[in-house]
Amino acid sequence: MKPLKPNDKRLNVAEAYLDADEIDALTDVVRDGWITMGPRVDAFEKAFAARSDAQAAVAVSSCTAGLHLVLAALGIGLGDEVLVPSMTFVATVNAILYVGAKPLFVDISGPEDASISLDDARSKMSERTRAAIVVHYAGSLVPGDAWRRFAEAEGLLLIEDAAHAAGVPGAGSFGDAAVFSFYGNKNMTTAEGGMVTARDPDLLQCVRTLRSHGMTSGTFERHHKVAPRYDVTMLGWNYRMDELRAAIGLVQLARLEGWNRRRRELVDCYFDALATYCPQVRIAAGPPGQRPVHILPALLPDGIQRDDVAASLYDDGIQTSFHYPPVHQLDLYRRLCPHQYLPLTEEFGNRQITLPLHPGMTEGQVKQVARSLARCVETLSLVEEGVVL
Ligand SMILES: *Cc1c(COP(=O)(O)O)cnc(C)c1O
Repeated sequence: MKPLKPNDKRLNVAEAYLDADEIDALTDVVRDGWITMGPRVDAFEKAFAARSDAQAAVAVSSCTAGLHLVLAALGIGLGDEVLVPSMTFVATVNAILYVGAKPLFVDISGPEDASISLDDARSKMSERTRAAIVVHYAGSLVPGDAWRRFAEAEGLLLIEDAAHAAGVPGAGSFGDAAVFSFYGNKNMTTAEGGMVTARDPDLLQCVRTLRSHGMTSGTFERHHKVAPRYDVTMLGWNYRMDELRAAIGLVQLARLEGWNRRRRELVDCYFDALATYCPQVRIAAGPPGQRPVHILPALLPDGIQRDDVAASLYDDGIQTSFHYPPVHQLDLYRRLCPHQYLPLTEEFGNRQITLPLHPGMTEGQVKQVARSLARCVETLSLVEEGVVL
């Protein structure tokens, strides 16, 4: 479980866990000599599908690539609109632009609920709206039944950005397609990589074809045939996963459930520790009752300078991060989609701070974070009130 190369003493927001098993898996690939998409990618797809209650899965080079492929395979393009939260990583929204469609930014559900608001989504729709992308922020699932009903009633395609929710039961269960990420800071990693699951086998087959230039057969199949032939049936991309990454993915996948269990224990510990030491700071992720499992998003009291909190925690050896700067406020999107006003997202985006969460942490470290946070929030509050220290 420990990283082979221990990091500096700082407590990081996220940490990848790789050990001798990943080294062995990589060595096996190199020894076998087949390094591009082949039997290990196939095995990884099957193992991932089995663990996510999906019929099948398609491995891709990243979650971003997977989102692009899903939108393309669903036929979303020029003139279409796609509902999407602004409280997400920019890649979710970029994928909409890749296919020439227009993002419709949707606010979050409440001051402490960063999940995409169904009511706001309904109010933003027009005749051109074809799809909605929901994000399982922090690994807290959006209410799947409600979103499924909404999509069916409105004739919308529904896509789950499940980048935060690998191994979370129910993720990928209600959308037309779901995309997972295996980037280095996610619940499991292949360094770079992603996975697509879908309800409709034809849709998944289309994603499979688009992943590799729109070709009717893969390199591995052609390599093992006497007369290699292929046709190209649609405009695709090179978004393949390779055998080295799939080999790491197989090792990581076997550990995912245990890691997520440990993450949940640590999140429970965070709830207790913050309530004890620092009740002014609240944990905010998804809908009420849904606890985070990927990142630990905390909501600072109104009026506290967040950068000062981050600097003070840093001095105590604790790294923090922000999830996320709202996408509609990023320079590119301010230019492309001007005059957006998402009050809850903007407020959340100003007050949110992400605290360390990864399965190798101890309860003692969680308490240390809570105490450090309590100290600096108290000091900064006094400064705000003009007390000379
Ligand atoms: C990480 C992330 C992505 C992108 O994943 P990659 O695998 O790095 O492309 C997309 N959406 C969300 C919400 C993410 O956190």
